[in-house]
Amino acid sequence: MTPKIALVTGASSGIGEATARELLERGYTVYGAARRVERMAELARLGVRTIALDVTDEESAEKAVAEIVAEAGRIDLLVNNAGYGSYGSVEEVPLQEGRYQFEVNVFGAARLIQLVLPVMRAQRSGRIVNISSMGGKIHTPMGAWYHGTKFALEGFSDALRMEVRPFGIDVVVVEPGGIATEWGGIAVDHLLEVSGEGPYQDVAGKLAKGLSSGANARLMSKPSVIAKTVSKAASSRRPRTRYAAGFGAKPLIFLRRVLPDRAFDALITRAVAS
Ligand code: NDP
Repeated sequence: MTPKIALVTGASSGIGEATARELLERGYTVYGAARRVERMAELARLGVRTIALDVTDEESAEKAVAEIVAEAGRIDLLVNNAGYGSYGSVEEVPLQEGRYQFEVNVFGAARLIQLVLPVMRAQRSGRIVNISSMGGKIHTPMGAWYHGTKFALEGFSDALRMEVRPFGIDVVVVEPGGIATEWGGIAVDHLLEVSGEGPYQDVAGKLAKGLSSGANARLMSKPSVIAKTVSKAASSRRPRTRYAAGFGAKPLIFLRRVLPDRAFDALITRAVAS
């Protein structure tokens, strides 16, 4: 059997890196993409084909997909994983940064989807796995832009799933909980830079402390947990439309569904302040 061809974005770190490894082990031909190509040297040594990609740069995205099609002739799986958390109060995050957060987490994924769809339609098969977050279902203070992008990705994925089904293409959302990657440090840097001083410093400081604490780090799941979930979403004959996995994801999404808005607010406020 010819190996399936996969493109994983954000493969230079964390969940993307673990997913590239997992898919490689499962026999896929894996293209790992990120801006920091040098950070994918170990993946390249293992056999992952590494590609320079800035998901906010259209030309870069077009080039990456064209390179794969020229080399492999098809694309069976797109894992839209590249992303980061732009934390800070709504009042203080500059709109330009809010827009950039959407450029990376939503428009970056959308552009790659547009580029792989003609290839997948011609094959009459393909799968798109969008890495959302439990933050695509629940909310925390200081995370409005991040949640905005992930809530957007959730609805976007649902609409897309219905559109592409007639072409034999499926769309799956993966909702990670707390995962030990570089994500937390980047989110804390944004948070403290934007809201570390001023009217929101109290909640920002508590949130930053919680995110950076050793106790929190010990609770986090390993990126391999999500890599395995992506692999399942990619290879199941009839995948679920969403998979929640990793620390806190299932219980928090459940609580969000059953609790009234203000009761959930109180729960999160207590968790942030403790
Ligand atoms: P990391 O920070 O470890 O990895 C993020 C990856 O995204 C890097 O490989 C980075 O590569 C890439 N990336 C960021 N910006 C761009 C860009 N403009 N163009 C291309 N690639 C980019 O975080 P995670 O592995 O944790 O994050 C992966 C996904 O999982 C994200 O979408 C995140 O929101 C989501 N998630 C993470 C959770 C967690 O607790 N860690 C929880 C829920 C969801 P480079 O900088 O080299 O381009």
